[in-house]
Amino acid sequence: MFAFARSRRNLTYLFALSMGSILVVFAALAYYLGVENQLQAFDEELYSISKAITVNAQRRLYAKRWQVNKNDVFILGDTLPLNGKLVYIRWYNSHKKLIKSSDENTPRRLSFASGFKTIQINDIDKIWLRELTLPIVQNNVVIAYLQIAAPLTPLRDSLNRARLFLTVGVPVTLGLIGITGWFLGGLAMRPTRRAYEQLQRFTADASHELRAPVAAVLSNAQVALMPPEDELEQHFRLENIEKIAKSMSTLISNLLFLARHEGALDTAALKNIDLVLLLRSLTEEYHQQATAQNLNFTSHLPQQSLYLKADPELLKQAIVNLLANAFKYTPDGGTVKLRFLQRNHRAVIQVEDNGIGIPLEDLPHIFERFYRVGNVRSRQTGGFGLGLAISQQIIQAHRGQITANSVLGQGSIFEIQLPLS
Ligand code: ADP
Repeated sequence: MFAFARSRRNLTYLFALSMGSILVVFAALAYYLGVENQLQAFDEELYSISKAITVNAQRRLYAKRWQVNKNDVFILGDTLPLNGKLVYIRWYNSHKKLIKSSDENTPRRLSFASGFKTIQINDIDKIWLRELTLPIVQNNVVIAYLQIAAPLTPLRDSLNRARLFLTVGVPVTLGLIGITGWFLGGLAMRPTRRAYEQLQRFTADASHELRAPVAAVLSNAQVALMPPEDELEQHFRLENIEKIAKSMSTLISNLLFLARHEGALDTAALKNIDLVLLLRSLTEEYHQQATAQNLNFTSHLPQQSLYLKADPELLKQAIVNLLANAFKYTPDGGTVKLRFLQRNHRAVIQVEDNGIGIPLEDLPHIFERFYRVGNVRSRQTGGFGLGLAISQQIIQAHRGQITANSVLGQGSIFEIQLPLS
């Protein structure tokens, strides 16, 4: 159980690690792309503002018919509309000397030719600006430079919000991933856990079943090894050992059988068999036994053959187990019936007896391994509680069903259904 808890923890850890890494990479990528996009949109807006200012300035120049040539001072009129968004507008002439500026502390010379730049002003408040320097070209000649700047505050605010969202969102999502991983780990482990528990129970039951006969063999052998006072007693002990050893051998072969035939059948082992013929041969075998046991055994089988795909040995074993039980649990003078019929494209085999029957509360459990109805009565009949489990395993491997109906003191009816196609 400890190993399962550890495996589950490891699964959760690996799941959270892999999903978490993917999440972090995605979040970082989304943030980076978000920054890029917003900056691009910001730059585009700044550029369109600069264009509008330039067009406006040029229109004024033409309206006043001022000539502009390379060395002229670029005259712009009086107003420098800051437009609400801009921090400053600066004009430089073609020699990069300052002509006009909306703010005071402006450098007299332009140091940067053209393009966008992020700068910081005011060391204390740390205001970040995006600055655009644009050469104004006329007839392929640079006649002036326009420099504008806008605060990056709105952009920074939105990025701050995104960062806050990510710093809260990523750990929360990681936590959710961890919980999901723990839940999924448990879900993934469930079949393995069930199989493990089943195996553990099976091993415990098998060892428990073997312990009693081994103890009996030991005590019988110890008595038999003592100096023989009574030869008959010694012979009786050895006979006991033989009987117990035989029963143990049956138990071991049953256990091996269950272990070996677990799961689906090997399709290569399946043969087209005549089910009616198989039942007829079983009927003959059990007729003799019925006479010996003073039971009335009848079979109701059709004349014509019926073929289906099955493993003949296994199928025979499944039916034999039902017949053996009917014979075992029906007292002298009772009746056992073997029937075959077809129902809804299924072959149906019924084994009915009017024996001791099964209590209602035991009925749902009789197909479980090692389950016996009232240990005492079963031990008397020598059963291990594996016969029905074996039959069920065989029938289910043939994609069929096995069911039981019984009334205590009146008898039982076991039914095997096998698909015909
Ligand atoms: P066992 O080897 O003990 O017979 P099975 O798995 O074949 O084991 O059967 C499980 C239990 O079901 C038996 O212990 C028995 O009590 C009960 N049982 C099975 N078949 C019959 C039947 N035909 N009549 C009454 N009880 C039955």
